[in-house]
Amino acid sequence: MTKHIGERVAKPLRRGDGPNKFRLSAMDTATTTYDGDDGWAKRPPAVLECPRCGGDILQHHSRDDIDCPHCVAEFSYQKFPELELNHLTCPVCRSEMAHGQRHPEAFDLVEWATCNGCRYHWEFKHSYS
Ligand SMILES: [Zn+2]
Ligand SMILES: [Zn+2]
Repeated sequence: MTKHIGERVAKPLRRGDGPNKFRLSAMDTATTTYDGDDGWAKRPPAVLECPRCGGDILQHHSRDDIDCPHCVAEFSYQKFPELELNHLTCPVCRSEMAHGQRHPEAFDLVEWATCNGCRYHWEFKHSYS
């Protein structure tokens, strides 16, 4: 099976340029309001651990395929909850984010993430809450 590595690598690099510059200028004044997003569709890029080779897999967008660059392992985005989440990457300053869950008994998914570098915060925000 031939993998189109060039294509898959080029795509995530192009995304993420643009609206983020705006945010950087506001970050120092953000004490009462934080900068952030919510919803699974806006989930920050995730670094997952490959269950086959133990390497890092970057899943840039929550609907992207999870395709290990180090071996042949490939998963659909629906497999995300079954894979080991290493960390989320801040879409603003690209730092490693702190993350956690609010309802670990109900969801086996990351539900929030905070960047200590620029205060960007992402929240899952379940539709029923
Ligand atoms: Zn792998
Ligand atoms: Zn950040």
